[in-house]
Amino acid sequence: MKGFEHLEEEIREWQENGVFRPLTELESDQESTVKIGGRKLIQLSSNNYLGLTTHPRLKEAALEAINVYGAGTGSVRTIAGTFSMHEAFEKKLADFKHTEAALVFQSGFTANVGVLGTILTDEDVVISDALNHASIIDGIRLTKAGRRIYQHADMDDLKKALEETQTARRRLVVTDGVFSMDGDVAPLPDIVELCEQYDAIVMVDDAHASGVMGKNGRGTVDHFGLHGRVHIQVGTLSKAIGVLGGYVAGPQVLRDYLIHRARPFLFSTSHPPAVTAACSEAIDVLLEEPELIDRLWENTRFFKDGLTRLGFNTGKSGTPITPVIVGNDALAMKLSDELIEEGVYAQGIVFPTVPRNQARVRTIVTAAHSKKELEQALEAFGRAGQKLGII
Ligand SMILES: *Cc1c(COP(=O)(O)O)cnc(C)c1O
Repeated sequence: MKGFEHLEEEIREWQENGVFRPLTELESDQESTVKIGGRKLIQLSSNNYLGLTTHPRLKEAALEAINVYGAGTGSVRTIAGTFSMHEAFEKKLADFKHTEAALVFQSGFTANVGVLGTILTDEDVVISDALNHASIIDGIRLTKAGRRIYQHADMDDLKKALEETQTARRRLVVTDGVFSMDGDVAPLPDIVELCEQYDAIVMVDDAHASGVMGKNGRGTVDHFGLHGRVHIQVGTLSKAIGVLGGYVAGPQVLRDYLIHRARPFLFSTSHPPAVTAACSEAIDVLLEEPELIDRLWENTRFFKDGLTRLGFNTGKSGTPITPVIVGNDALAMKLSDELIEEGVYAQGIVFPTVPRNQARVRTIVTAAHSKKELEQALEAFGRAGQKLGII
């Protein structure tokens, strides 16, 4: 069809650079191994940290919810789409996070956009880590507030930004709790202290810390013992929780305000009963089966040690996210292809998801991986890395 020549031109360039990719189709459920192209591969690219995507209790809860409440809700939350289970789940989330209130959005992405795009005006300033997630960046694009970006995790630069914006009505400092491409943890205690000193509010996006860090997976605020000192916590239900959705946990006034003004909340249909019931069951699983989180961290240590011993550059991750940084975009894709040949699925990640010359294969082990699977994966990395001259 005519009219898309400008897009075709760009796509041709991606093809030449070896970064144009079809979407990978899974022919199985999301487990420690998956079926791709008819072959069984060890999955190292999912965010299914605790293996909850296929947990029997979650599946059972979803099925029962469908049987009792149907497949969909038929409305946005603010008109006719709030079921009792939505409210009950939000109360459960608030209890879990030790906050006054919580509000669920359709995804973590829309939770960030919903908060940042809603609570600030042109009298305010938002101060954001340079490596924050795309949904934070897009949320910031939607606010009329002034913007300051500080160098990644650089507290001197954050301090400078706070010093230079003191005439603003309100400053909001926003950071990923765990950075999604490097797996490093934000220096949250330092951020909180600076914000208390300069009277700014703190927002942390715990997408990769939900279900992973803190007691029973409560996130980085719990991990660092900062309850009551972080104003806004965003979490996702799509990663370790194993289902779909995002949430904001914080004071009641924030929930009340967002319900009336956050556009992704107001103008998009509420979660189907199966989603809410499965998410709610997942929180119970976090509370009742903490051994899943222990296993996740055991596997993380084992796999990280193995990659380091092989001689790969795994950056400065402190979490189950372990990047294998190779630099060149095409080389990252080649490593990923070679790993597939070896029976391992680990997706290459290139610009614009990571900065140029920082291309990598990003791995995430889960609680569901067996020691044997991780050993096999390490052997595959060893052979592929040698073949491509990376190690
Ligand atoms: C994945 C991610 C999100 C988006 O969460 P979804 O629920 O998948 O929309 C937001 N922030 C960060 C830091 C993430 O890693």
